[in-house]
Amino acid sequence: MESLEKAGLAVNYNKVSSTRPKSLPERVHIWDETLRDGEQTPGVALTIDEKIEIAKMLDEVGASIVAVGFPAVSEGEANAVAAIAKEGLTNASVAAPARAVKTDIDACLKADVSEVPIFIATSDFRLKYQLQMTREEMLARLTECIEYGTDHGLVIDYIAEDSTRSDMDFLCKAYKAAIDAGADKICVADTVGFVRPSVMKYIMQQIKKGLSSDSKYKVPIAVHCHNDFGLANANTLAAIEEGASFAHVCVNGYGERAGNAAFEEVVMALEELHNVNTGIDTEKLYNLSRLVERHFMIPLPLHKAISGDNAFTHSSGIHSHGQLTHSMTYEPISPSEVGRRREFHLGKFVGRHFVEYLLKMGGVTATEKQAREIANRVKKTHEEQKKRQTKESFDKIKSKLKNLRTGVSEREFWAIVFEVI
Ligand code: MN
Repeated sequence: MESLEKAGLAVNYNKVSSTRPKSLPERVHIWDETLRDGEQTPGVALTIDEKIEIAKMLDEVGASIVAVGFPAVSEGEANAVAAIAKEGLTNASVAAPARAVKTDIDACLKADVSEVPIFIATSDFRLKYQLQMTREEMLARLTECIEYGTDHGLVIDYIAEDSTRSDMDFLCKAYKAAIDAGADKICVADTVGFVRPSVMKYIMQQIKKGLSSDSKYKVPIAVHCHNDFGLANANTLAAIEEGASFAHVCVNGYGERAGNAAFEEVVMALEELHNVNTGIDTEKLYNLSRLVERHFMIPLPLHKAISGDNAFTHSSGIHSHGQLTHSMTYEPISPSEVGRRREFHLGKFVGRHFVEYLLKMGGVTATEKQAREIANRVKKTHEEQKKRQTKESFDKIKSKLKNLRTGVSEREFWAIVFEVI
């Protein structure tokens, strides 16, 4: 694809040196969470085979770290994690998280993963209500667990759950304690998707300042963002612009509640808009997205960026005609960069020029009048289609979608209760 710069026809402000964030790293590593946070999408449960297939594809595409599951959740999950670890990945580090609890770390050791991100919250709110610990107790537990993990030869990272709602001095204190205990990387977590991009930048600046006292605290910073306000990608990129070099992402933006930052969207924004290397083979992104969609059984919105059916489909006559004159007209990137092809939709917005193009491709000659007549008939056909029929299909599909949400119904839950009690 001819770049904007080479074409010399369009201005690319993304590449103006004064708009380039000063702390932007040259390389950002993709830390994939699809098989951990992603699988926490309500209703999703993957088989071991599906997990292995996805993990291998993530590895092939170029993720640096693949969090493959949460061994402490269940025996089945622990077996799945162990199976992937046994299978081994070529490039990516196989990771599995643990709470700051020794039995969780033991479960990771048993599953034989190489990297364990340990998470424990830093916000006073969580310490008080969720963990019922004082700040001092939490720091002692964190240190003890990180030392336990590193003593057993694991690469340990520290994820400060709820970082973005934590007291900054204490957050930095926790990061320092983690690094002192042997943590390899630290992670800023916007656990409930609470901040704005400019606030994420401020938090990153404060963390860097808080850790600047000694060069030993200069470890890679990862970022974990949730999409509760639709800002997961923006907040992830904001943290990266302030120096975060590991991005937690889930393919298709799956995850708890409104999901996490989306793998394919963050990667393409970094590669195309920030000019940052992610090590990802972007031409495989579409296949990755479809594989995960199929196993998660959560259909993607048609208009979703990068991997939605409509992302590279042109409908209006003006747009279709524009695309035929130059591909840059209505596309920011070539679809082939993410392994896709351009499509055109025929309907009420079709134009004569596009009809003429299709006729030419089909080896048919027509007068201008005939082309106009064909365009008019296409418009009319689309407009006259029975809306009611389509509406019925829509309602059917919407109600059927609920069937895709697997899990235990309330009725099944009480059946289990009466069996046990
Ligand atoms: Mn999360």
